[in-house]
Amino acid sequence: GGCGATQSSLMRARMRLSLQERLWEFYQTRVNIPAEEQAMARRAALDICAELRVFLHAKLPDMPLREMYLSGSLYDDLQVVTADHAQLMVPLILEKNLWSSIPGEDTIMNVPGFWLVRRENLEYFPRSSSYWDRCMVGGYLSPKSVLEVFEKLVAGSINWPAIGSVLDYIIRPVVPSETLTLEVQYETDRKLYVDFLPLLVMEDGTSLIAKPHRLSAERNENLWRQSFRVAETARLRALDQEDGGCRCTCLKVAKAVCKLSPALHRLNSSQLTNTILLLSEKEGDWTQEALADRFLQLLRALVGHLEAGRLPCALSPKVNLFCELTEQEVDELGYTLYCALSDPEGLLRT
Ligand code: GDP
Repeated sequence: GGCGATQSSLMRARMRLSLQERLWEFYQTRVNIPAEEQAMARRAALDICAELRVFLHAKLPDMPLREMYLSGSLYDDLQVVTADHAQLMVPLILEKNLWSSIPGEDTIMNVPGFWLVRRENLEYFPRSSSYWDRCMVGGYLSPKSVLEVFEKLVAGSINWPAIGSVLDYIIRPVVPSETLTLEVQYETDRKLYVDFLPLLVMEDGTSLIAKPHRLSAERNENLWRQSFRVAETARLRALDQEDGGCRCTCLKVAKAVCKLSPALHRLNSSQLTNTILLLSEKEGDWTQEALADRFLQLLRALVGHLEAGRLPCALSPKVNLFCELTEQEVDELGYTLYCALSDPEGLLRT
């Protein structure tokens, strides 16, 4: 009767408490990266970025680019486990009257969150009026072709061994890679991967990146990916700042769990961030003491979204952040997380 219920809720409270403790311990020992390690990785990325700027200015002075810059979790204090990757953003300058963007839902591919960039006014401004016309495929700016331009440069004409020896790093382009990536060994046992990410900022502020759609690549070859990263990261941080919350800690623990367990590799930061943002709309208590409860709730929410096969982007609900997972991947992720609900601590024993 009553006594049993009290006992079991007491036991549940104790289990919660220990999950709470274990999450914080996991956070301290596995998730969080020592400041010094982060600083070394940032230094290495910055050195490479500086070399590339010099090289591109000298070699291709008329390529219309804005200044390249580094970004990603390493710069937002959201990287976990090891300081091992960063993105080098390469913003292309497009002539406003020559290019326009078409949302993916208005195209035959019908994928919200992706865009086509169409060449306009070809009759008045013929091919070659825009520098980026060389990357035009079938009337559209091809992200793949843009990446190839940089690939030729970075993998073909930069003397990385020479630059590496000056900087005291070992640098080599990673081939083949889905995007263009440099591997930088900056200590005997430390490697950093720097991804080149060509970027378009459209007139209305929409950011599009040259990162291909994972599925049916051929059909979707010309699609640019809308990036919500800056806005979603800012929103998460702002919410934490308002109430001293643990959303970023919760995100980092979840990212580490996904990084350390092969069965969860397919879940990325954006999916986790958005699940937490959606949860924040319903759940108010994000105090440090509630970490375990919120972490469990995050797992449950993910299971729910996977069951529905749909995770709306918090900043643009028509975008389905699971649209690049196959049905089988969705099932496997759902199954793994569903099992984890009854043994969440198992996730921390990786
Ligand atoms: P982490 O790699 O899991 O630590 O997560 P990040 O928050 O650093 O996200 C990096 C990933 O997001 C990469 O796969 C990028 O291709 C992708 N991404 C999408 N938009 C952006 C952007 O605006 N900046 C950066 N740095 N990465 C972006």
